[in-house]
Amino acid sequence: MKTIHEEDIINAVSRLCIDACTYLDNSVLSCLKKAKENEQGLAKDIIAQIIENDELAASENIPMCQDTGIAVFFVELGNQVFLDCDLQEAINKGVAKGYTEGYLRKSVVGNPLTRINTKSNTPAIVHIKQTLSDKLKITFCPKGAGSENMSQVKMLTPAQGINGIKDFVLKVVKDAGGRACPPLVVGVGIGGDMEICAKLAKEALIRDIDDEASDPEARKLENELLELINSSDVGPMGLGGKTTALKVKVNLYACHIASLPVAVNLQCHACRHKEVTL
Ligand code: SF4
Repeated sequence: MKTIHEEDIINAVSRLCIDACTYLDNSVLSCLKKAKENEQGLAKDIIAQIIENDELAASENIPMCQDTGIAVFFVELGNQVFLDCDLQEAINKGVAKGYTEGYLRKSVVGNPLTRINTKSNTPAIVHIKQTLSDKLKITFCPKGAGSENMSQVKMLTPAQGINGIKDFVLKVVKDAGGRACPPLVVGVGIGGDMEICAKLAKEALIRDIDDEASDPEARKLENELLELINSSDVGPMGLGGKTTALKVKVNLYACHIASLPVAVNLQCHACRHKEVTL
């Protein structure tokens, strides 16, 4: 067994929060640069400004966007790890530390009806999966409300099939328009039940921006959806152009014979996620 101490988790999470909100991954920046070359006029100018913003944030050590999001974590906990703490609490303490020390905006209200800011950006949203290892892998994904609010879930019927999925995904992107701050990464969860497909769609967003689905049908759908979305002319920040999405990521899970749940989670151009393994 490997023992992992609360303090190590707090410090690792705190660092993740600051880094994810400040330094956009080079792979995402490269994608934006390629998209810029493919555009002209206003669309090109907007992507150039996004790139300049992201590079300035990194060089000045400041957040790339004022909305530093609700703190979402995907955690892989090895069966040979002993924790001397409550994992959710340790993550919350790390979030509070990171958002305070990094001067990141704290955007969480403790109760959705009374809406008082918790002033610590906690509680975090934590998804835990068990693995057969002696590692604790923590992936952090700050999720801004602009794109999260435009995400949707729909329970399709199997008869609606692939065409029904495509129509729904395209509708979500068009409904969102500029409010989700495109160019997007579009996470699509298909299968499971209502809550699992929503989780699949969110989890799709933490895949490497350049990877492709391992399932051949999902991979084909990713390419077809990207083409469809980019012919919608929503464009960068909703002002028209060829780059509405940089990528589409499709994650699948088994489902009931009479169900076809589909969720679409939109990620804005601030495609932030970082991971650490303890
Ligand atoms: S949607 Fe993204 S880029 Fe737009 S304000 Fe929110 S976090 Fe920032």
